[in-house]
Amino acid sequence: MKILVINAGSSSLKYQLIDMDNESLLAKGLCERIGLDGKFTYKPLIDGKTKIDAVDVPMPTHSEAIQAVLKALVDPENGVIKSMDEIDACGHRVLHGGMEFTESCLVDDAVEEAIKRCIPLGPLHNPANLMGIKACQDVMPGTPQVAVFDTAFHMTMPPKAYIYAIPYEYYENDNVRRYGFHGTSHRYVSARCVELLGNPEHSKVICCHLGNGSSLSACIDGKCADTTMGLGPLAGVCMGTRCGDIDGTIIEYLMGRHGYSIEEMMNILNKKSGVMGISGVSSDFRDLAEAEETNPRAKLALDKFFYDVKKSIGAYAAAMGGVDAIVFTAGIGENGVEDRSRICEGLEYMGVKIDPKRNAERADEHLISTDDSKVKVFVIATNEELMIARDTKAIVEK
Ligand code: AMP
Repeated sequence: MKILVINAGSSSLKYQLIDMDNESLLAKGLCERIGLDGKFTYKPLIDGKTKIDAVDVPMPTHSEAIQAVLKALVDPENGVIKSMDEIDACGHRVLHGGMEFTESCLVDDAVEEAIKRCIPLGPLHNPANLMGIKACQDVMPGTPQVAVFDTAFHMTMPPKAYIYAIPYEYYENDNVRRYGFHGTSHRYVSARCVELLGNPEHSKVICCHLGNGSSLSACIDGKCADTTMGLGPLAGVCMGTRCGDIDGTIIEYLMGRHGYSIEEMMNILNKKSGVMGISGVSSDFRDLAEAEETNPRAKLALDKFFYDVKKSIGAYAAAMGGVDAIVFTAGIGENGVEDRSRICEGLEYMGVKIDPKRNAERADEHLISTDDSKVKVFVIATNEELMIARDTKAIVEK
């Protein structure tokens, strides 16, 4: 069975074609600048096939983008399948499932309506995700479409973890609560971690998804008990350009002082804050690492990020009454050797001992704590696309 995995943004669309018989990646790529001039990238993962790098392809809408993807996939010379009939199903990443979705599901009219109802909760992403689904329905009518929600994994959180201390009617009438994001990644790495621990009963795992956007989750028995992001992905630890948790008073204060509109204020908090905002240098952790020796603000930005992550680890260890393992994943979590050791510095009291040699090694999955570390610390490369493809396969086979 071959599954096309789609992650559609408002002007971009990432895709992967996965052969589920052996879970191998056949091709992947990116459509960018949809609605503008259109750039198309295609990377076949079969020997002898040539890649296409950011070439101009007119893509007024997501439909033309999907058409370009299919054209490349079935190309007689550099394609990886003979015809698009070989694609058994499409799996779509959908950002916000609100309280409507606790798991992935086959897209039908009712599901589309429910995703639309969640647009106020995910105003930037859900419309784009729907465009991706619509485009696949247009171009591949009859092929099953499956929606996989970023929020679904976190729906097992208990009320005390998801409720905000504002009048209860906003929860009841307006669905205001903690939802959490990166759920597919947290689900993948927490499940792998429990396997690596030998499937113990009552496992307590803290997952640190640290990338351009960052979130942590506390997982008991493989189920989410708490997570740092909230109603939207702005909350929790400080990020590349997002502020993370801040005092709401700041919003009123700055809007009053500078006359910002709410759109301007939200743009500052989403795009100009985080380590970018503190350092004034970059949102990229590699740039900050380079700059920190000579630039105190770059050092402050990194210190703030590591401090936030460390505090969340401590909070989740307290919330779960202990921790068996900590997992690092995503761009920073998987690659940032120094970042991981600075986050874990000072956590020895709770049984976390990093082995510097193991930490410096590179592998998709590896243990970086010492043999006598009470808490095991792993690096596990996340694979959201594979998770989406697995869900899609399971649902289509049902
Ligand atoms: P993601 O959003 O998961 O793609 O992660 C992007 C972040 O990962 C960026 O801030 C990068 O700087 C960071 N990153 C990627 N490679 C490295 C590396 N070798 N060391 C530290 N950070 C890295």
